[in-house]
Amino acid sequence: MLSHNGTKVLAPVNGVATLTADQKYFQIKQDGSWSTSAEYRFQNYDFSSLLDAFDEGALASLDIRDLPLKDYFSRFKTSSSFRVVLSPFSRYQHLDFEEMILTSMKDAYVSFVSLLTSIFPKAEVTNFFEIPTLKFEHPNGIPEYFLHKQLQWGVLKAKKELRSDQILFLGAETIYHILRKLYYGEPFTKRHLAVFLVDRKGRMDLEPRQFFLTNGQSLAFIPANLDKRYKIASFDTVYEAIKPMDVTSLGYFNIYEHYSITLYEKLPAVRKEFSCIDCLECNQYCPTHANPFQLIKGKTEDFDKDKCINCGICTVYCPSGIDIRKRIEEVV
Ligand code: SF4
Ligand code: SF4
Repeated sequence: MLSHNGTKVLAPVNGVATLTADQKYFQIKQDGSWSTSAEYRFQNYDFSSLLDAFDEGALASLDIRDLPLKDYFSRFKTSSSFRVVLSPFSRYQHLDFEEMILTSMKDAYVSFVSLLTSIFPKAEVTNFFEIPTLKFEHPNGIPEYFLHKQLQWGVLKAKKELRSDQILFLGAETIYHILRKLYYGEPFTKRHLAVFLVDRKGRMDLEPRQFFLTNGQSLAFIPANLDKRYKIASFDTVYEAIKPMDVTSLGYFNIYEHYSITLYEKLPAVRKEFSCIDCLECNQYCPTHANPFQLIKGKTEDFDKDKCINCGICTVYCPSGIDIRKRIEEVV
């Protein structure tokens, strides 16, 4: 175990843990693969031992950035009334974690839901798992949008509640790793990474290759094992600002930041921005009716920034290639 500024990291038995040059992250150079065949084992927790388990397992929310689960759960009191929301989606739904949980971890999932109700007896647990009509489409995995859509809250209220001690939000990937720690004894040292391929015509394969990688592991093996046509890579999804890099410089797996890689055969065309043609596609596809069109027209005050959830959809749909995302960043 390596410890730095109060943060602990568990290294695999056959790896070496070090700090990156900027002292921001731990990295583990691994020699060979580290896997486990741990079986489900029921274990009871009280609030204190649950927080200890989160701490020992280095668990963090994978829905809300930079939030260790121990700190997140500590905001809530066992005697308080608040709402717990269990979402079957992850932010960009790079993999179907609900299905993984319900097929191979069902006992652990049932134990965890019952643990939540026993630790927080006054909390209202709103569980959106196992609802067949609930289908993922972006941006359903963004927590504030999920609450807006499923609880019919205004976006601003959803944003405020997420920052308060009135709602504990757990998405499916976060729950997956909680179950692994609590009932399989596995700390958060491994995470799934989905690898998407985009050919030179811009077509993306719909079935990503899936890896379960150790924090700090070198990512060089990914391009080495794929067709050499894929020369450009990005850790960002099509809905985010893509920062392309050479496929040979992927570096090391950062468990708190990396969940997917898209490999391109050809550099995604940096689209030249044309003038706005007033087609209103941006407004039509905006899921929260934030009115991005007015922002492009220079009427900043008519863009409802409080409703914007940074989903990136307006930029993806703009036929003129206008980087609306960047304009939004300038005003929020
Ligand atoms: S303005 Fe754009 S980024 Fe904001 S919510 Fe609407 S579509 Fe998403
Ligand atoms: S989608 Fe693009 S071109 Fe169309 S109205 Fe919006 S900003 Fe203008």
